Amino acid sequence: MSWQDDYAQTMLPVFGTPKAKLVAARGCTVTDDAGKDYLDLLGGIAVNTLGHGHPAITEAVTGQLSTIDHVSNFFTTDPQLNLASKLLEIAGAPAGSQVFFANSGTEANEAAIKLARRVGAPEAGSSGRSRIIAVDGAFHGRTIGALSLTAKEAYRAPFAPLMPEVTHVPFGDTDALRAAVDDTVAAVIIEPIQGERGVRLHPAGYLTAVREATREAGALMILDEVQTGIGRTGHWFAFQHPEVGEGITPDAITVAKGLAGGIPIGGLITIGEKVSALLGAGQHGTTFGGNPVSAAAALAVLDTIKTDGLLAHVRETGDWLAEQLTAIPGITGARGAGLLRSFAITDPQQADAGELPVAQALAAAAQGAGFIINPVTGDRIRLAPPLIITPVQLQDFIDALPALIAETVKAQS
Ligand SMILES: *Cc1c(COP(=O)(O)O)cnc(C)c1O
Repeated sequence: MSWQDDYAQTMLPVFGTPKAKLVAARGCTVTDDAGKDYLDLLGGIAVNTLGHGHPAITEAVTGQLSTIDHVSNFFTTDPQLNLASKLLEIAGAPAGSQVFFANSGTEANEAAIKLARRVGAPEAGSSGRSRIIAVDGAFHGRTIGALSLTAKEAYRAPFAPLMPEVTHVPFGDTDALRAAVDDTVAAVIIEPIQGERGVRLHPAGYLTAVREATREAGALMILDEVQTGIGRTGHWFAFQHPEVGEGITPDAITVAKGLAGGIPIGGLITIGEKVSALLGAGQHGTTFGGNPVSAAAALAVLDTIKTDGLLAHVRETGDWLAEQLTAIPGITGARGAGLLRSFAITDPQQADAGELPVAQALAAAAQGAGFIINPVTGDRIRLAPPLIITPVQLQDFIDALPALIAETVKAQS
């Protein structure tokens, strides 16, 4: 039986047919079952921060497994405590800030939703404020709570009714945002850069407006840094990127994808004593969240980013990549920050209008040529390679791209 048949018989079809069966991975290269190598320019969707098989993660995980593996959250461990301190440190969080560990991005956002539900809550009983504002184009995850914050109708519609009292405001419209955030609102949740919506940056001033409006209304500003956090933009968090974050400080941050470099983890960081005090004993929980193995992997990731100077490397490599992409004929609207980038291969206005299959065709051609890239919208490709990738490795892709685009565009017309 082929692996395709095996997959079709045994796996729920939610992901469609896999594009290959991978059998090995090292550094920025993954290998399929026919022995073909691919340059991994997606990094497990912004997860493989240190590439594949990095010795720091392997040593941390194996060492941790042989020291103390899983314990329940009736107990704590050094890796968990050290990781919480480290996250607060890199977030520049003031005294009183705290951390909750989960296992994924959607779970981190579920914790954030529960935090929001406690805003303005009387001592017992439910909160007086239950509305949450999210933004058109947002992606916050697939569980029912997080899905309610996610904007994409195709993801939402089959599962109605979703969580009530969520309002999506139009993308980039400061006036609409200010009008929506009143004293019935518990929180605004927002990605600093909309990853799944094609690595889309908010217009200048928008995040500042969210910060001002939430502060005035007594609502939380929750930043979903699941995709953008942990060095992806060349800063520990995207809100610390001067152009992206505009100098704002959020009330809460969610993280996941890149934090443990491929080991499942998620986290909610609450900024300051007042926000941290919203969730009390018994109000949330998890079995696996904060387990020492994931925490040890995350500590290895954070330590390696620091000691190898990867934040500066990501800034330099990302800027270089953006320049190279912009210079290629047939590419429009290259955008992003650090090593989270996207580009369109037709008019970018069209990309925002709907789904075109051209990006899928380009990704298929690239795979044939040995490159893994992601058709994130109809005509837009996302790149989120390991943070350790070098310009020399990227050059191979840049060199191949003009012919791949020419081939794809020709086949389409
Ligand atoms: C991927 C992603 C999530 C969901 O994370 P999972 O680990 O897949 O649950 C949430 N928010 C953002 C911004 C993401 O990119």
